[in-house]
Amino acid sequence: MQISTSQQLFEKAQTLIPGGVNSPVRAFKSVGGTPVFFASGSGSRVTDVDGNSYLDYIGSWGPHLFGHNPQFIKSAILAQLEKGVSFGAPCGLEVEMAELITSLVPSVEMVRMVNSGTEATMSAVRAARGFTGRDKFIKFEGCYHGHGDYFLIKAGSGALTLGVPTSPGVTKGNAADTLLATYNNLAEVQELAEKYKGEIAAIIIEPVVGNMGTVLPTKEFMNGLRQLCTKEGIVLIFDEVMTGFRLAKGGAQEVFGITPDMSVFGKIIGGGLPVGAYGGKKEIMMKVAPAGPVYQAGTLSGNPLAMAAGLAALRYIQQNPAIYTRLEELTARLQHGLAAAAQSVGKNYTINRIGSMISMFFSEQPVTDFASAVTSDTALYGKFFHGMLDEGHYLPPAQFEAWFVSTAHTEANIDETIAAAKRVMQKIV
Ligand SMILES: *Cc1c(COP(=O)(O)O)cnc(C)c1O
Repeated sequence: MQISTSQQLFEKAQTLIPGGVNSPVRAFKSVGGTPVFFASGSGSRVTDVDGNSYLDYIGSWGPHLFGHNPQFIKSAILAQLEKGVSFGAPCGLEVEMAELITSLVPSVEMVRMVNSGTEATMSAVRAARGFTGRDKFIKFEGCYHGHGDYFLIKAGSGALTLGVPTSPGVTKGNAADTLLATYNNLAEVQELAEKYKGEIAAIIIEPVVGNMGTVLPTKEFMNGLRQLCTKEGIVLIFDEVMTGFRLAKGGAQEVFGITPDMSVFGKIIGGGLPVGAYGGKKEIMMKVAPAGPVYQAGTLSGNPLAMAAGLAALRYIQQNPAIYTRLEELTARLQHGLAAAAQSVGKNYTINRIGSMISMFFSEQPVTDFASAVTSDTALYGKFFHGMLDEGHYLPPAQFEAWFVSTAHTEANIDETIAAAKRVMQKIV
C-alpha cells in the first residue's frame, strides 16, 4: 500500500513533536487514523499535502469567519509587511484596534491586546482577582478557557476529547481556587456563591459553549448569573474567544442582551494571526499595569502584523452587517439537511446551533450540559468523521467541538455536505 505524504509527515513529526502535533485535538486521537497535513486554503476549501481538496467546517477552529485567505485580509497583511513586523513600541494600529473593539462591543470600555485566547483568559481572571481582592472563581464543567493551570479542571475541547479533562501537572494549589458548576444550572451557582460568600472574584463562562460541542444557555441561567454577580460583587467574565464577532458584531452578549463586566476575545479578532484580547469596565481595566498594580505584559502583544489582519477582519464586520443574516441562512440550511440525513436512517440526533456554530451530537437526548454531551456515541462520530473525510468534507476530528460555517461557503457547498452526510449515515448507522 502506498503511504501518503500526510502519513510520512506524521510519522516523522511524532519523533520530533509530542504526539506529532502542536495542539492535541489536531492529532485525530478520538476519531483514529492519521491527521491530514494541509498545504493551502482558499475560501471554503482546503487542500492537503497529497493534493486532496476538502470543504472545510473548522476554519482554523474559528478564526476564518470569511473562509481561508480572503483578499482583504491578505492585502492588509502584505501592506504592513512592507513597513515592519514588530517594533516592541506602541504603534497606531493598536489604538485603532482598541477603538474598534470598544465601539463594536460597548461593554468593553478599555482593552488590552495579547497573543492568544489562553493568555487573555488568564489575564482576565488575574485582573478580576486584583480588582476584587478575592481568590476563588467559578467555571463550568466542559467549558474550555485555554490551557492555563487553574482552568484545566473538568475542561472541554481537546482535554475532554483525550479523556484528561483534569490535567496532570496542575497542582492541588492551582486547583484549590477553581470552583466547578454545571452549565445551565443556576441553583448550583447560587449555592456556591452562598457557601463562599465574599471569596469569589469571578464567574467565567462561554456564553455559548463551543468546547463540549455547541451548547446553548437558557435565558434564565444567563439572566440569573448577571443578577447574582451584581448582587455579590462578582466579576462576570464572558469568554467570547469563540463567539465574539461570530454570533454578532457584538458577540453573544449582543445576542442575549446581557452586559458582562469583562470579555475575552481571540480567534476572529486576529484575522487568522495569533491574537487575544481582554477588556471590560474601565474601573477593572485601570487595575492592569502600568495603569495599576496587576502585572501583565507581552513582547509581541499588539503586534503590527496581527493588528493589521485583525483590523481588516473587524472593519469588514463593521461595514457588512448583512454577513450575519447570510451565515444564519447557510447554517440553518446545513442544520435542516443534517437532521434529514439522520432521519433517513431513523435517528433524531440532537443538532445544536446558533448562528454559524453548529454541532451534531450522536445522541437523541437534548444536550444542555457536560453530562448530556457525553451521552453521545463518540465511536459512531469517529466513523461519521472518516466517512465525511473520504468524501472530501473536513469536520472537527472530535465529537465535542463546534463546526463553523463561513461567508465563503455557498448553498451548493452546504448541499454537497448534506448529500455526503446522508450517504455516510446510510453506511455507518
Ligand atoms: C479557543 C478558545 C480558547 C483558547 O484560545 P487559544 O488561542 O487557543 O489559546 C479559550 N476560550 C475559548 C472559549 C476558546 O474557544
